[in-house]
Amino acid sequence: MSPERTLRSRVAIITGGGTGLGRDVARQFGRLGASVVLASRDPAHIEPAASELAAEGIPALAVTTDVRDHHQTRRMVRAAIERFGRLDILVNNAAGNFIRPAERLPETAFANVVDIVLNGTFNCCRAAGREMMARGGGVILNIAATYAWTGGPGTVHSAASKAGVLALTRTLAVEWASRGIRVVAIAPGPFDSRGAADRLWPSEELKEKVRRAIPLGRFARREEVARACAFLVSDAAAYITGECLTIDGGGWLGRGVLAEEPSQPPPVIKRRRRPLAEDEDSG
Ligand code: NAP
Repeated sequence: MSPERTLRSRVAIITGGGTGLGRDVARQFGRLGASVVLASRDPAHIEPAASELAAEGIPALAVTTDVRDHHQTRRMVRAAIERFGRLDILVNNAAGNFIRPAERLPETAFANVVDIVLNGTFNCCRAAGREMMARGGGVILNIAATYAWTGGPGTVHSAASKAGVLALTRTLAVEWASRGIRVVAIAPGPFDSRGAADRLWPSEELKEKVRRAIPLGRFARREEVARACAFLVSDAAAYITGECLTIDGGGWLGRGVLAEEPSQPPPVIKRRRRPLAEDEDSG
């Protein structure tokens, strides 16, 4: 779908870019010609990921950043400009999540998740947006989730934060359209990452239950989600703004009562293109 080098000479910041989806997005963008900045709190996540990309010939920089702190997000943007001379793309992927019924949430947990997911996304949008405005434009891609509109029992902290991220996406898309900035989002369904496996479906039984609720009968592959991200930030999507693309195998629509239940995951279809290399936490 994406012609080779479609992101040539673009510079992209990916928060949470050292693990899971963020790492695959960085690799996908890099393979399409972008230089990438991986930003998260733990250097042990982003530095090896940046070295791995560099070994593939992708210009990559790791910048230790806590998105909750607006001083740090401004520093992250400055570091990108200092190293690569420009900033074209921001992907707000950093998040924290776990399953806990609302009445049993520790006192500070709701605010903590809002702080990472919603406040963190805003901090990064503002820091990057100011720079993009000064340079004539750019693209911001926010990672939401379908429970932003369906609700997410057991994850009220994350669902409420992601709903805020959607409102923020649509609001900034309109506010910043005249400044040349597109603001878009994706809502992925479940995909494997170490974070998700540890905190969202810690048992095979639960994972199977989640899988069976998906009409297409399987989790997303991270590279499938990463390819959709590449499309949305590319010029092929130049007329799309304020939109959220759902990538969930039909999950949010529900299975209905008449559809046949997939007893087994569907067979793996041989792909012609070489798949992205799996990283350490793929499932
Ligand atoms: P993950 O591997 O657990 O990654 C989360 C990333 O966020 C980590 O790299 C973490 O790095 C970073 N992070 C957390 N707090 C941060 C902070 N305060 N400042 C900067 N970085 C921070 O997650 P994933 O499963 O790949 O999910 C990626 C995105 O997809 C998230 O937005 C998630 O909500 C969304 N999503 C996931 C699923 C799923 O099924 N997995 C479904 C729908 C939506 P550090 O620890 O180094 O900070």
